[in-house]
Amino acid sequence: MTRPISIVTGAGRGIGRGIAVELAKLNHAVIINYAGNAAAAEECLQLVRAAGGEGLTVQADVAVSAGRARLVQTTLDAFGRIDLLVNNAGVAPNVRADLLEAGEESFDRLININLKGPYFLTQLVARQMIEQVQRNDITDFGLPRIVTITSISAYTASVNRGDYCVAKAGLAMMTALYAARLAEHGINVYEVRPGVIETDMTAGVKEKYDGLIAQGAWPLRRWGKPEDIGRAVAAIARGDFPFSTGEVFNVDGGFHLRTL
Ligand code: NAP
Repeated sequence: MTRPISIVTGAGRGIGRGIAVELAKLNHAVIINYAGNAAAAEECLQLVRAAGGEGLTVQADVAVSAGRARLVQTTLDAFGRIDLLVNNAGVAPNVRADLLEAGEESFDRLININLKGPYFLTQLVARQMIEQVQRNDITDFGLPRIVTITSISAYTASVNRGDYCVAKAGLAMMTALYAARLAEHGINVYEVRPGVIETDMTAGVKEKYDGLIAQGAWPLRRWGKPEDIGRAVAAIARGDFPFSTGEVFNVDGGFHLRTL
C-alpha cells in the first residue's frame, strides 16, 4: 500500500509530535515541520520510524511566505503528493499582558504565526490537492483532507492574551471557509479544538492549571496529552468522517460543556 503523505506543522515537539506519531502508526510518511529546534524534530522522526512510519524534517517558518513555499516544494520533491495537511504550529504570547496594556508587536507575531501562516499554507496546499483530485491521483487513503488545531481559546475570553484568542477565533473561521470552498473538490476540512494539554507551551502555567483541574475546571479532571489530540487527528486520517466537513472536534475533557 502507498504510504499516505502528511504535512504536520510544528511537529518537533508537543501536540504536533503526538499527531506525527499517531499518523505513523497508520503507516504515513510525515513531513515534520519545525521552526528552530532541529534536535526535537530529529527525535520526532526517530519516534515516527519506530511507530512504523517514514518521514522528513523540514525547517520552515509558517509565518513566512518563502518558508511555506519551501515546505510544500520539499514535500512534493520527496513524495510527489500531499494527502493530509495538519496545521498545528502555533505560539503563545511571550508575555501575557492585560488587554488594556498589550502591545501591537505581540499581536502581529501571534496573528502572523497562528493565523496568517496556516491561512496561506492551506491555500497553497489546497491548490495542490485540487490538482491531485482533478488528475484522479487518489490512493487508498482516499480524497485529501485538511485539519487545523485551534483551541478552546477560539471561544473562551482570556483577557491576558487577547491576541492568542483572536488568532484562534480566526482559525475557526478559516476552517469553515475552506470547508465551504473545497467541498466541490471532495476535500474535507476539519477543526480539532484542544483543551489544556501538557506541553512546553503550558509548562510555565503548570501550577495554575494543576489547581484549576483539582477544582474541576473541566469534567475529566486531568491534563490533556499530545496523544489525545493525535488520536483525534488519526481518526480523521482513517477517513471515518466522510460526510462531515467544517466539523469541530472538541478534545478538551469536556471543557466546552455548560453545567449547572
Ligand atoms: P509547543 O510545545 O510550544 O510546540 C510548538 C511547535 O510549533 C514546535 O514544534 C515549534 O517548533 C513549532 N512552531 C512554533 N512557531 C513556528 C513557526 N513560526 N513555524 C513553524 N513551526 C513553528 O506547543 P503545543 O502546546 O504543542 O501547541 C501546538 C498547537 O496546539 C498550537 O497551535 C497551540 O496554539 C495549540 N494548542 C495548545 C494547547 C496547549 O494547552 N498546549 C491548547 C490548545 C491549543 P520548534 O520546536 O522548532 O520551536
